[in-house]
Amino acid sequence: MNFKRPRGTADILPDDQPYWGKVYNTARKVAHQFGYRRIDTPTFEDTNLFERGVGNETDIVQKEMYSFDDHGGDMITLRPEGTASVCRAYIENGMHNLPQPVRLFYAAAMFRYERPQAGRVRQFHQFGVEAIGDPSPEVDAEVIELGWKYIADLGIKDVTLRINSLGDAEGRADYINDLDKYFLGVVDQLPKVDQDRLKRAPLRVLDSKARETQALADAAPKSVDYITGEAKEHWEVLLVLLDNLKQAYPDFSYTVDHRLVRGLDYYNRTVFEFEPADAGSQGTLIAGGRYDPLMGILGGQETPGIGFAGGLERLIMELKKQELPVKASKGPDVVVVTLGDAGSAGSTLAAGLRAKDISTVLAPKRSMKAQMRYANSQNALNVVILGDREVENGVASVKSLGEGGAQSEVTLDAAAIAEHVRSTGNQ
Ligand code: ATP
Ligand code: MG
Repeated sequence: MNFKRPRGTADILPDDQPYWGKVYNTARKVAHQFGYRRIDTPTFEDTNLFERGVGNETDIVQKEMYSFDDHGGDMITLRPEGTASVCRAYIENGMHNLPQPVRLFYAAAMFRYERPQAGRVRQFHQFGVEAIGDPSPEVDAEVIELGWKYIADLGIKDVTLRINSLGDAEGRADYINDLDKYFLGVVDQLPKVDQDRLKRAPLRVLDSKARETQALADAAPKSVDYITGEAKEHWEVLLVLLDNLKQAYPDFSYTVDHRLVRGLDYYNRTVFEFEPADAGSQGTLIAGGRYDPLMGILGGQETPGIGFAGGLERLIMELKKQELPVKASKGPDVVVVTLGDAGSAGSTLAAGLRAKDISTVLAPKRSMKAQMRYANSQNALNVVILGDREVENGVASVKSLGEGGAQSEVTLDAAAIAEHVRSTGNQ
Protein backbone atom coordinates (compact mmCIF):
# COMPACT_ATOMS: atom_id res chain seq x y z
CA MET A 1 0.00 0.00 0.00
CA ASN A 2 1.36 3.36 -1.06
CA PHE A 3 -0.46 6.33 0.46
CA LYS A 4 -0.41 9.70 -1.23
CA ARG A 5 -1.76 13.00 -0.03
CA PRO A 6 -5.11 13.94 -1.60
CA ARG A 7 -4.91 15.85 -4.89
CA GLY A 8 -4.66 19.59 -4.41
CA THR A 9 -3.21 19.38 -0.91
CA ALA A 10 0.35 19.97 0.24
CA ASP A 11 2.74 18.87 2.94
CA ILE A 12 4.40 22.01 4.24
CA LEU A 13 7.86 20.71 5.10
CA PRO A 14 10.23 22.31 7.63
CA ASP A 15 12.36 23.95 4.92
CA ASP A 16 9.31 25.81 3.64
CA GLN A 17 8.16 26.95 7.08
CA PRO A 18 10.16 30.21 7.08
CA TYR A 19 7.90 31.41 4.25
CA TRP A 20 4.81 30.48 6.21
CA GLY A 21 6.26 32.14 9.31
CA LYS A 22 6.75 35.30 7.29
CA VAL A 23 3.21 35.52 5.86
CA TYR A 24 1.61 34.68 9.23
CA ASN A 25 3.83 36.93 11.34
CA THR A 26 3.46 39.87 8.97
CA ALA A 27 -0.32 39.34 8.91
CA ARG A 28 -0.48 39.39 12.71
CA LYS A 29 1.74 42.45 12.91
CA VAL A 30 -0.14 44.48 10.32
CA ALA A 31 -3.55 43.46 11.70
CA HIS A 32 -2.41 44.63 15.13
CA GLN A 33 -1.17 47.95 13.70
CA PHE A 34 -4.69 48.61 12.39
CA GLY A 35 -6.47 47.43 15.55
CA TYR A 36 -7.85 44.16 14.14
CA ARG A 37 -8.25 41.33 16.65
CA ARG A 38 -8.01 37.65 15.91
CA ILE A 39 -11.04 35.41 15.56
CA ASP A 40 -11.03 31.65 14.96
CA THR A 41 -14.17 29.92 13.78
CA PRO A 42 -14.72 26.17 13.25
CA THR A 43 -13.24 24.42 10.23
CA PHE A 44 -16.70 23.14 9.32
CA GLU A 45 -20.11 24.75 9.45
CA ASP A 46 -23.71 24.00 8.56
CA THR A 47 -23.87 23.72 4.75
CA ASN A 48 -26.79 26.20 4.70
CA LEU A 49 -24.53 28.93 6.04
CA PHE A 50 -22.47 28.89 2.85
CA GLU A 51 -25.40 28.28 0.51
CA ARG A 52 -27.00 31.40 1.94
CA GLY A 53 -23.98 33.45 2.78
CA VAL A 54 -21.80 32.79 -0.26
CA GLY A 55 -24.67 32.55 -2.72
CA ASN A 56 -26.17 29.77 -4.80
CA GLU A 57 -24.96 31.26 -8.07
CA THR A 58 -21.29 31.22 -7.14
CA ASP A 59 -18.74 28.68 -8.36
CA ILE A 60 -18.09 27.90 -4.71
CA VAL A 61 -21.61 26.71 -3.94
CA GLN A 62 -22.27 25.31 -7.41
CA LYS A 63 -19.32 22.96 -7.56
CA GLU A 64 -16.54 23.58 -5.08
CA MET A 65 -17.81 22.70 -1.62
CA TYR A 66 -16.67 19.73 0.41
CA SER A 67 -20.00 18.77 1.93
CA PHE A 68 -21.00 15.64 3.76
CA ASP A 69 -23.69 14.20 5.90
CA ASP A 70 -22.21 13.72 9.37
CA HIS A 71 -23.15 10.73 11.51
CA GLY A 72 -25.97 12.69 13.11
CA GLY A 73 -27.68 13.44 9.80
CA ASP A 74 -26.60 17.10 9.59
CA MET A 75 -25.19 18.52 6.35
CA ILE A 76 -21.75 19.88 7.05
CA THR A 77 -19.31 21.77 4.78
CA LEU A 78 -15.60 22.36 5.19
CA ARG A 79 -15.40 26.14 5.03
CA PRO A 80 -14.60 27.44 1.53
CA GLU A 81 -14.05 31.02 2.75
CA GLY A 82 -14.06 33.00 5.98
CA THR A 83 -16.54 35.86 5.75
CA ALA A 84 -19.77 33.87 6.17
CA SER A 85 -18.34 32.17 9.27
CA VAL A 86 -17.16 35.45 10.79
CA CYS A 87 -20.58 37.02 10.22
CA ARG A 88 -22.28 33.96 11.70
CA ALA A 89 -20.01 34.32 14.75
CA TYR A 90 -20.72 38.06 14.95
CA ILE A 91 -24.46 37.40 15.07
CA GLU A 92 -24.30 34.34 17.33
CA ASN A 93 -22.03 36.03 19.86
CA GLY A 94 -24.01 39.26 19.97
CA MET A 95 -21.09 41.34 18.74
CA HIS A 96 -23.52 44.08 17.69
CA ASN A 97 -23.54 44.92 21.40
CA LEU A 98 -19.84 45.80 21.26
CA PRO A 99 -18.64 49.28 20.28
CA GLN A 100 -18.80 49.43 16.46
CA PRO A 101 -17.04 48.85 14.18
CA VAL A 102 -15.71 45.48 15.27
CA ARG A 103 -12.37 44.83 13.57
CA LEU A 104 -11.47 41.16 13.17
CA PHE A 105 -8.89 39.05 11.36
CA TYR A 106 -8.37 35.36 10.73
CA ALA A 107 -5.71 33.13 9.22
CA ALA A 108 -6.95 29.66 8.42
CA ALA A 109 -7.24 26.77 5.98
CA MET A 110 -10.04 26.86 3.39
CA PHE A 111 -11.33 24.01 1.23
CA ARG A 112 -12.59 24.11 -2.34
CA TYR A 113 -12.94 21.29 -4.80
CA GLU A 114 -11.16 22.90 -7.76
CA ARG A 115 -8.94 21.70 -10.57
CA PRO A 116 -5.48 21.90 -9.00
CA GLN A 117 -2.85 24.00 -10.77
CA ALA A 118 -0.17 26.47 -9.73
CA GLY A 119 -1.76 28.87 -7.22
CA ARG A 120 -5.01 26.91 -7.12
CA VAL A 121 -5.29 24.06 -4.66
CA ARG A 122 -8.02 22.28 -2.74
CA GLN A 123 -6.82 23.05 0.75
CA PHE A 124 -5.44 26.57 0.84
CA HIS A 125 -4.89 29.23 3.46
CA GLN A 126 -6.17 32.74 3.79
CA PHE A 127 -5.39 35.77 5.87
CA GLY A 128 -8.57 37.79 6.03
CA VAL A 129 -9.85 40.90 7.78
CA GLU A 130 -13.40 42.10 8.40
CA ALA A 131 -14.51 45.53 9.65
CA ILE A 132 -18.11 45.17 10.72
CA GLY A 133 -20.60 47.82 11.79
CA ASP A 134 -19.50 50.99 9.99
CA PRO A 135 -20.85 52.00 6.57
CA SER A 136 -18.47 54.89 5.94
CA PRO A 137 -15.96 55.04 3.07
CA GLU A 138 -13.17 55.76 5.59
CA VAL A 139 -13.41 52.11 6.61
CA ASP A 140 -13.19 51.00 2.96
CA ALA A 141 -10.03 53.08 2.59
CA GLU A 142 -8.65 51.58 5.82
CA VAL A 143 -9.21 47.99 4.70
CA ILE A 144 -7.60 48.71 1.32
CA GLU A 145 -4.69 50.42 3.10
CA LEU A 146 -4.29 47.34 5.31
CA GLY A 147 -4.04 45.10 2.25
CA TRP A 148 -1.56 47.47 0.67
CA LYS A 149 0.61 47.58 3.79
CA TYR A 150 0.52 43.81 4.16
CA ILE A 151 1.88 43.32 0.66
CA ALA A 152 4.41 46.13 1.10
CA ASP A 153 5.62 44.75 4.45
CA LEU A 154 6.10 41.34 2.86
CA GLY A 155 8.40 43.14 0.42
CA ILE A 156 6.35 42.19 -2.64
CA LYS A 157 6.78 44.69 -5.47
CA ASP A 158 4.83 45.59 -8.61
CA VAL A 159 1.38 44.81 -7.35
CA THR A 160 -1.59 46.60 -8.86
CA LEU A 161 -4.70 47.50 -6.94
CA ARG A 162 -7.92 47.49 -8.95
CA ILE A 163 -11.16 48.82 -7.55
CA ASN A 164 -14.74 49.17 -8.70
CA SER A 165 -18.13 49.97 -7.23
CA LEU A 166 -21.09 47.67 -7.75
CA GLY A 167 -23.47 50.19 -6.21
CA ASP A 168 -26.36 48.99 -4.08
CA ALA A 169 -28.74 46.14 -4.84
CA GLU A 170 -31.73 48.47 -5.33
CA GLY A 171 -29.99 50.53 -7.99
CA ARG A 172 -28.42 47.59 -9.75
CA ALA A 173 -31.42 46.45 -11.79
CA ASP A 174 -30.90 49.01 -14.56
CA TYR A 175 -27.27 48.16 -14.82
CA ILE A 176 -27.83 44.41 -14.94
CA ASN A 177 -30.51 44.99 -17.53
CA ASP A 178 -28.19 46.93 -19.83
CA LEU A 179 -25.35 44.52 -19.19
CA ASP A 180 -27.59 41.62 -20.09
CA LYS A 181 -28.70 43.40 -23.27
CA TYR A 182 -25.10 44.11 -24.21
CA PHE A 183 -23.94 40.52 -23.76
CA LEU A 184 -27.03 39.11 -25.48
CA GLY A 185 -26.04 41.23 -28.46
CA VAL A 186 -22.70 39.39 -28.66
CA VAL A 187 -23.86 36.06 -27.24
CA ASP A 188 -22.58 34.11 -30.27
CA GLN A 189 -19.05 35.19 -29.47
CA LEU A 190 -19.22 33.98 -25.85
CA PRO A 191 -17.94 30.53 -24.89
CA LYS A 192 -20.53 28.07 -23.61
CA VAL A 193 -19.70 28.64 -19.90
CA ASP A 194 -20.31 32.34 -20.25
CA GLN A 195 -23.52 31.83 -22.20
CA ASP A 196 -24.72 29.79 -19.23
CA ARG A 197 -23.46 32.39 -16.78
CA LEU A 198 -25.30 35.08 -18.68
CA LYS A 199 -28.55 33.23 -18.05
CA ARG A 200 -27.87 32.86 -14.33
CA ALA A 201 -25.86 35.95 -13.36
CA PRO A 202 -24.91 38.51 -16.04
CA LEU A 203 -22.59 40.31 -13.61
CA ARG A 204 -20.42 37.20 -13.36
CA VAL A 205 -19.74 37.26 -17.10
CA LEU A 206 -17.51 40.29 -16.45
CA ASP A 207 -15.43 38.07 -14.17
CA SER A 208 -14.90 35.42 -16.86
CA LYS A 209 -11.46 33.91 -17.27
CA ALA A 210 -12.05 33.32 -21.01
CA ARG A 211 -10.04 35.65 -23.20
CA GLU A 212 -12.83 36.15 -25.77
CA THR A 213 -15.20 37.22 -23.03
CA GLN A 214 -12.67 39.52 -21.42
CA ALA A 215 -12.25 41.50 -24.63
CA LEU A 216 -16.01 41.87 -24.93
CA ALA A 217 -16.34 42.75 -21.26
CA ASP A 218 -13.98 45.70 -21.72
CA ALA A 219 -16.59 47.45 -23.83
CA ALA A 220 -19.56 46.47 -21.64
CA PRO A 221 -21.61 49.06 -19.70
CA LYS A 222 -19.84 50.22 -16.54
CA SER A 223 -21.31 49.84 -13.10
CA VAL A 224 -19.94 53.19 -11.88
CA ASP A 225 -21.96 54.96 -14.59
CA TYR A 226 -25.14 53.62 -13.03
CA ILE A 227 -24.62 54.25 -9.33
CA THR A 228 -26.59 57.06 -7.76
CA GLY A 229 -27.36 58.68 -4.42
CA GLU A 230 -25.49 57.47 -1.35
CA ALA A 231 -23.64 54.76 -3.24
CA LYS A 232 -22.27 57.34 -5.66
CA GLU A 233 -21.29 59.69 -2.86
CA HIS A 234 -19.60 56.79 -1.04
CA TRP A 235 -17.62 55.94 -4.17
CA GLU A 236 -16.53 59.53 -4.76
CA VAL A 237 -15.39 60.01 -1.17
CA LEU A 238 -13.51 56.72 -1.34
CA LEU A 239 -11.59 57.84 -4.44
CA VAL A 240 -10.50 61.02 -2.62
CA LEU A 241 -9.44 59.03 0.44
CA LEU A 242 -7.43 56.68 -1.75
CA ASP A 243 -5.75 59.60 -3.48
CA ASN A 244 -4.85 60.92 -0.03
CA LEU A 245 -3.21 57.60 0.88
CA LYS A 246 -0.34 58.66 -1.36
CA GLN A 247 0.74 61.11 1.33
CA ALA A 248 1.55 58.25 3.69
CA TYR A 249 2.48 55.70 1.02
CA PRO A 250 4.22 57.46 -1.89
CA ASP A 251 4.12 54.28 -4.01
CA PHE A 252 0.39 53.78 -3.52
CA SER A 253 -1.66 53.67 -6.69
CA TYR A 254 -4.86 52.11 -7.96
CA THR A 255 -6.83 51.78 -11.14
CA VAL A 256 -10.58 51.68 -11.55
CA ASP A 257 -11.45 48.44 -13.34
CA HIS A 258 -14.98 48.22 -14.68
CA ARG A 259 -14.68 44.47 -15.15
CA LEU A 260 -14.02 43.82 -11.51
CA VAL A 261 -16.86 42.05 -9.74
CA ARG A 262 -16.50 39.54 -6.97
CA GLY A 263 -17.23 35.86 -7.30
CA LEU A 264 -19.35 35.94 -4.18
CA ASP A 265 -22.89 37.22 -4.44
CA TYR A 266 -23.19 39.30 -1.30
CA TYR A 267 -20.91 42.17 -2.26
CA ASN A 268 -22.15 45.72 -2.76
CA ARG A 269 -20.44 49.04 -3.39
CA THR A 270 -16.67 48.77 -3.10
CA VAL A 271 -14.84 45.76 -4.57
CA PHE A 272 -11.07 45.51 -4.96
CA GLU A 273 -8.24 43.15 -5.82
CA PHE A 274 -4.48 43.17 -5.50
CA GLU A 275 -2.70 41.44 -8.34
CA PRO A 276 0.92 41.09 -9.42
CA ALA A 277 1.59 43.07 -12.60
CA ASP A 278 2.14 39.96 -14.74
CA ALA A 279 -0.68 37.90 -13.22
CA GLY A 280 -2.45 35.10 -15.03
CA SER A 281 -5.84 33.79 -13.98
CA GLN A 282 -4.42 32.40 -10.74
CA GLY A 283 -2.82 35.73 -9.96
CA THR A 284 -5.08 37.52 -7.54
CA LEU A 285 -3.30 37.79 -4.21
CA ILE A 286 -5.98 39.57 -2.20
CA ALA A 287 -9.62 40.11 -3.01
CA GLY A 288 -12.22 41.97 -1.03
CA GLY A 289 -15.15 44.25 -0.85
CA ARG A 290 -18.12 45.59 1.02
CA TYR A 291 -20.93 43.22 1.93
CA ASP A 292 -23.60 45.32 3.64
CA PRO A 293 -26.49 42.92 2.78
CA LEU A 294 -24.81 39.83 4.22
CA MET A 295 -25.75 40.09 7.90
CA GLY A 296 -29.41 40.44 6.96
CA ILE A 297 -29.16 37.48 4.58
CA LEU A 298 -27.79 35.41 7.47
CA GLY A 299 -30.65 36.37 9.76
CA GLY A 300 -28.87 39.04 11.78
CA GLN A 301 -29.83 42.66 12.08
CA GLU A 302 -28.75 44.78 9.10
CA THR A 303 -25.09 45.59 9.74
CA PRO A 304 -22.62 46.91 7.17
CA GLY A 305 -19.30 45.16 6.68
CA ILE A 306 -16.20 45.18 4.52
CA GLY A 307 -13.19 42.90 4.34
CA PHE A 308 -10.70 41.04 2.23
CA ALA A 309 -9.07 37.64 2.00
CA GLY A 310 -5.54 37.01 0.79
CA GLY A 311 -4.32 33.64 -0.43
CA LEU A 312 -1.18 32.68 1.48
CA GLU A 313 -0.03 30.09 -1.09
CA ARG A 314 -0.14 32.77 -3.78
CA LEU A 315 1.64 35.33 -1.61
CA ILE A 316 4.37 32.77 -0.91
CA MET A 317 4.66 31.99 -4.63
CA GLU A 318 5.20 35.69 -5.20
CA LEU A 319 7.78 35.93 -2.38
CA LYS A 320 9.70 33.12 -4.08
CA LYS A 321 9.28 34.53 -7.56
CA GLN A 322 10.66 37.88 -6.43
CA GLU A 323 13.42 36.06 -4.52
CA LEU A 324 12.62 37.88 -1.30
CA PRO A 325 14.66 36.79 1.70
CA VAL A 326 13.09 34.95 4.59
CA LYS A 327 14.70 34.30 7.93
CA ALA A 328 16.08 30.76 7.97
CA SER A 329 14.96 28.92 11.06
CA LYS A 330 17.62 28.90 13.75
CA GLY A 331 19.42 25.69 14.61
CA PRO A 332 19.68 24.40 18.19
CA ASP A 333 22.09 26.05 20.62
CA VAL A 334 23.64 22.68 21.40
CA VAL A 335 23.94 19.24 19.88
CA VAL A 336 25.14 16.69 22.43
CA VAL A 337 27.62 14.19 20.98
CA THR A 338 28.27 11.08 23.08
CA LEU A 339 30.87 8.36 22.73
CA GLY A 340 31.35 5.01 24.45
CA ASP A 341 29.04 4.57 27.42
CA ALA A 342 28.26 8.30 27.81
CA GLY A 343 24.81 7.99 26.19
CA SER A 344 22.76 8.27 29.34
CA ALA A 345 24.93 11.07 30.76
CA GLY A 346 24.36 12.91 27.45
CA SER A 347 20.63 12.41 27.70
CA THR A 348 20.56 13.71 31.29
CA LEU A 349 22.68 16.71 30.30
CA ALA A 350 20.35 17.48 27.36
CA ALA A 351 17.35 17.55 29.72
CA GLY A 352 19.26 19.81 32.12
CA LEU A 353 20.15 22.23 29.31
CA ARG A 354 16.60 22.38 28.00
CA ALA A 355 15.35 23.04 31.52
CA LYS A 356 17.68 26.07 31.46
CA ASP A 357 16.17 27.21 28.12
CA ILE A 358 19.13 26.14 25.99
CA SER A 359 17.73 24.43 22.89
CA THR A 360 19.41 21.04 22.77
CA VAL A 361 19.34 18.06 20.44
CA LEU A 362 20.90 14.64 20.96
CA ALA A 363 23.06 13.33 18.13
CA PRO A 364 22.33 9.71 17.14
CA LYS A 365 24.69 7.18 18.74
CA ARG A 366 27.09 6.67 15.87
CA SER A 367 30.69 7.48 15.06
CA MET A 368 32.13 10.81 16.15
CA LYS A 369 32.30 11.88 12.52
CA ALA A 370 28.67 10.95 11.83
CA GLN A 371 27.56 12.82 14.96
CA MET A 372 29.48 15.94 13.97
CA ARG A 373 27.94 15.74 10.51
CA TYR A 374 24.52 15.51 12.16
CA ALA A 375 25.27 18.60 14.30
CA ASN A 376 26.22 20.54 11.18
CA SER A 377 23.10 19.37 9.34
CA GLN A 378 20.99 20.80 12.19
CA ASN A 379 22.80 24.17 11.99
CA ALA A 380 23.81 23.77 15.63
CA LEU A 381 25.71 26.62 17.23
CA ASN A 382 27.72 24.37 19.57
CA VAL A 383 28.45 20.74 20.18
CA VAL A 384 28.99 19.33 23.64
CA ILE A 385 31.15 16.20 23.45
CA LEU A 386 30.91 13.57 26.17
CA GLY A 387 32.97 10.40 26.26
CA ASP A 388 33.74 7.95 29.06
CA ARG A 389 36.77 10.03 30.10
CA GLU A 390 34.72 13.24 30.32
CA VAL A 391 32.02 11.58 32.39
CA GLU A 392 34.65 10.13 34.75
CA ASN A 393 36.39 13.51 35.16
CA GLY A 394 33.16 15.53 35.39
CA VAL A 395 33.97 17.76 32.44
CA ALA A 396 32.55 18.26 28.98
CA SER A 397 34.18 19.53 25.86
CA VAL A 398 32.17 22.44 24.40
CA LYS A 399 33.00 23.36 20.82
CA SER A 400 31.57 26.31 18.97
CA LEU A 401 30.59 25.53 15.38
CA GLY A 402 30.64 29.23 14.53
CA GLU A 403 33.56 31.18 13.15
CA GLY A 404 36.80 30.55 15.05
CA GLY A 405 35.39 27.33 16.45
CA ALA A 406 36.73 27.80 20.00
CA GLN A 407 36.79 24.68 22.15
CA SER A 408 36.71 24.72 25.99
CA GLU A 409 36.52 22.27 28.85
CA VAL A 410 33.54 23.07 31.05
CA THR A 411 32.33 21.39 34.26
CA LEU A 412 29.86 18.63 33.38
CA ASP A 413 26.91 20.43 34.86
CA ALA A 414 23.88 21.79 32.99
CA ALA A 415 23.97 25.19 34.73
CA ALA A 416 27.69 25.65 34.00
CA ILE A 417 27.38 24.62 30.37
CA ALA A 418 24.27 26.79 29.88
CA GLU A 419 26.17 29.72 31.36
CA HIS A 420 29.16 29.05 29.11
CA VAL A 421 27.01 28.81 25.97
CA ARG A 422 25.27 32.06 26.87
CA SER A 423 28.44 33.95 27.72
CA THR A 424 30.15 33.00 24.46
CA GLY A 425 27.26 34.67 22.69
CA ASN A 426 26.45 31.55 20.80
CA GLN A 427 23.02 31.10 22.18
P1 ATP B 1 -10.30 32.96 -8.28
O1 ATP B 1 -11.01 33.88 -9.23
O2 ATP B 1 -8.81 32.97 -8.43
O3 ATP B 1 -10.89 31.59 -8.22
P2 ATP B 1 -11.89 33.68 -6.06
O4 ATP B 1 -12.67 34.85 -6.49
O5 ATP B 1 -12.52 32.35 -6.03
O6 ATP B 1 -10.51 33.61 -6.87
P3 ATP B 1 -11.84 34.53 -3.32
O7 ATP B 1 -12.92 33.63 -2.91
O8 ATP B 1 -12.10 35.97 -3.41
O9 ATP B 1 -11.20 33.99 -4.67
O10 ATP B 1 -10.58 34.27 -2.37
C1 ATP B 1 -9.64 35.29 -2.04
C2 ATP B 1 -8.24 34.85 -2.33
O11 ATP B 1 -8.00 33.52 -1.86
C3 ATP B 1 -7.88 34.76 -3.80
O12 ATP B 1 -7.54 36.01 -4.29
C4 ATP B 1 -6.68 33.83 -3.77
O13 ATP B 1 -5.51 34.53 -3.39
C5 ATP B 1 -7.06 32.87 -2.71
N1 ATP B 1 -7.66 31.65 -3.28
C6 ATP B 1 -8.94 31.45 -3.65
N2 ATP B 1 -9.11 30.20 -4.11
C7 ATP B 1 -7.90 29.58 -4.00
C8 ATP B 1 -7.42 28.26 -4.29
N3 ATP B 1 -8.22 27.31 -4.75
N4 ATP B 1 -6.11 27.99 -4.06
C9 ATP B 1 -5.29 28.93 -3.58
N5 ATP B 1 -5.68 30.18 -3.27
C10 ATP B 1 -6.97 30.51 -3.48
MG1 MG C 1 -12.49 30.71 -7.31
